[in-house]
Amino acid sequence: MLTDSHLHLQRAQDPIGYICAAVAEGITRFALQCVSLNDANELLFLKKELGEQICVFIGCHPQLAWDFDICRFEELLRSPFITGIGECGLDKRPQILAQSSWESQCTVLQLQLAAAYDLDMPVSLHCVKAHNDMLNTLRIFCPRSGARAQLRFCLHGVSCSDELFRQYYDLGAYFGVGPAILRSDGVLLARLKKFYPFIKHRLLLESDADSRAPDPKIYSRLLNALARALYIPAGELSAQFAANWKEFVPDDLPLISSAF
Ligand SMILES: [Zn+2]
Repeated sequence: MLTDSHLHLQRAQDPIGYICAAVAEGITRFALQCVSLNDANELLFLKKELGEQICVFIGCHPQLAWDFDICRFEELLRSPFITGIGECGLDKRPQILAQSSWESQCTVLQLQLAAAYDLDMPVSLHCVKAHNDMLNTLRIFCPRSGARAQLRFCLHGVSCSDELFRQYYDLGAYFGVGPAILRSDGVLLARLKKFYPFIKHRLLLESDADSRAPDPKIYSRLLNALARALYIPAGELSAQFAANWKEFVPDDLPLISSAF
C-alpha cells in the first residue's frame, strides 16, 4: 500500500488515466492536494469517482493566500470526505509576495494549522525561503512536552539544509521525498543518505513537481534513485514508505459511501 503523499491531480490532463498508470507503477493511494479552495470540488469529485484510493487534503497555497475564503474553508472542514489540510505554507519569493502579502500568508497559514491541530488532521506544508518563520509558527502547535497532541505535518518537497532538517525533525516533521532529489546534483540524495538511519520512519513519497503536470513514471525513478544511494533494495524502501504513511495518517481507513 504505497501512497503518493502530495499530488495535484487537478493538473493532470486525464486524472483517471493518471491514476490507472500510477497504480500500474505500484501506487495504491493518492493524497490529493488543493492549491486553492477552488480545487476542492474537483478533488471531491475525483474521490467520488475513484473511492478509497483517494484521500483529499483541502487548503490554500501561500501564493493564493489573498483569495482565502474562511467561510468556504470551515464549510469544507465539515465534510466527512476530507482527510487532511494542504497544501499550505509560507513563501518569501518576490513573485509570490507580489501576489500574497506576508501578513496574509501568515494569517492564512495559522488558520489552517489551528484547524489541523484542533481536528487532529495531517498537514502538507510548503515552505520556500521562510523556514525560521515556519519553525516558529510550528512551535506553537508542537509543544515538546505535556499532554496536548502534536501537530502532524509533512514538509513537502524537502530540500533544506542540515541544520533546518534537524530543527524540523525535532518538531516531529515528516519529509516529502519528491522530484527535487533528482534535480539537485546529488546534494539532496547525499543529505537523505546521511540522515536516513534517523529519519527513515519520517519519509513519505510524493510526485509533486512545482506547477508541472504530474508524471506517473516518477515513482519508480524516485524509489530507484534513493534505493541506489542508500544501497538497499527498492522493495525495502517501498515497504518503509508504506509503513510511514500509516503512521502519518493512521485513520486513513477505506470509506465506502455514495453520499457526497
Ligand atoms: Zn504542491
